[in-house]
Amino acid sequence: MTENRPNRPDGGFATRAIHHGYDPALEHGALTPPVFLTSTYAFESAEIGQQLFRGEREGYVYGRTRNPGQALLEDRLATLEGGEAGLAVASGMAAISATLWTLLEAGDAVVIDHTLYGNSFALFTKGLTRFGIKVSVADFTDLDAVERTFREARPKLVHFETPANPNLRLIDIEAVTRLAHETGALVMVDNTFATPVLQRPLELGADLVVHSATKFLGGHGDLIAGALIGDKQTVESVRQHGLRYLTGATISPITSFLLLRGLKTLELRVARHSASAQTLAELLERHPKIRWISYPGLPSSPFHALAKRQMSGFGGLVAFELDGGLEAGKRFMNRLSLVTRAVSLGDAETLVQHPASMTHAAYSAEERRRHGIGDGLIRLSVGLETPDDLRDDILQALEAV
Ligand SMILES: *Cc1c(COP(=O)(O)O)cnc(C)c1O
Repeated sequence: MTENRPNRPDGGFATRAIHHGYDPALEHGALTPPVFLTSTYAFESAEIGQQLFRGEREGYVYGRTRNPGQALLEDRLATLEGGEAGLAVASGMAAISATLWTLLEAGDAVVIDHTLYGNSFALFTKGLTRFGIKVSVADFTDLDAVERTFREARPKLVHFETPANPNLRLIDIEAVTRLAHETGALVMVDNTFATPVLQRPLELGADLVVHSATKFLGGHGDLIAGALIGDKQTVESVRQHGLRYLTGATISPITSFLLLRGLKTLELRVARHSASAQTLAELLERHPKIRWISYPGLPSSPFHALAKRQMSGFGGLVAFELDGGLEAGKRFMNRLSLVTRAVSLGDAETLVQHPASMTHAAYSAEERRRHGIGDGLIRLSVGLETPDDLRDDILQALEAV
């Protein structure tokens, strides 16, 4: 199924998202790639089975490490991110943890940016540290501090998000990668917020990209999945160690199918998410009840110039704080009627949440304060609804505050 026939040219982003790696002629003419609901695979002979196990022969062995639909999904993710190989797993956290458990050992050092998705922050600062790995935290928007920390910590791996969850700080991928490579560290970027439609970290020098495919890649709020994209050797090593026996966090064949379906409309969806977010961000910025807003598409954003340089659009997430802080924010959220109060992001539905009490509750209050996650911060994931309806709902909720 992953065979790429020469009569199906690779083409642009959307063409690859729809066609790459699949030829209906090889699957009874089925337009949609079949779902193989099987846990194990028959060997033609004992000898072939042995060769498969030794990795001397290409093929499928057991569903924990690979399934045909998963393999197709992995090829598509790799081509969309501009990487050699991909690995699809059961969740974004599985992608990050399987990679870390594979690459790191006791005595190694890691440096992370101070603003990460709450559970990623917990994995690094509360998880890895229990196993003899030293984790340092730095502000990756401050390149002098980054250089100093890299020089002192001598990390094996560096990890960050850009735009970062939840406050949409942007990090200069090329600059941080240059500094990391000078000290011999691998660079892993969580590209969940931008998606490969808007930003491809591997093309900017990063070594590995991880995703919560639960978000924009799936795009419909109906699955949990994750992905790693990078060079073939590292990705296969994460499959053979991180996935096969360190986590066992396999993606299901049905989830792979849903993700392949989601990817077909990724480019279209991200364009609409971005256009609507831009409109709402401009509206919020002008509103007298807004104290502070972060959206990289606003010319007033300190990250606007960097966003124009390393992204081809500004994405669907907006972060802001109301005058009156947390209490006003809660009243605003409770007044919304179309916009839905829920965590997660990248869905067709517009979602609103309060990071300090929800996605970033893994940070202590002191850590949140130091790391720029204000207690009044509200995160809006702008969906695909009719933009005027979103504007009306947000304006009526602001009126009520
Ligand atoms: C949601 C999220 C994750 C975790 O992904 P899951 O699929 O929920 O495990 C990791 N990183 C970022 C930036 C996220 O938003």
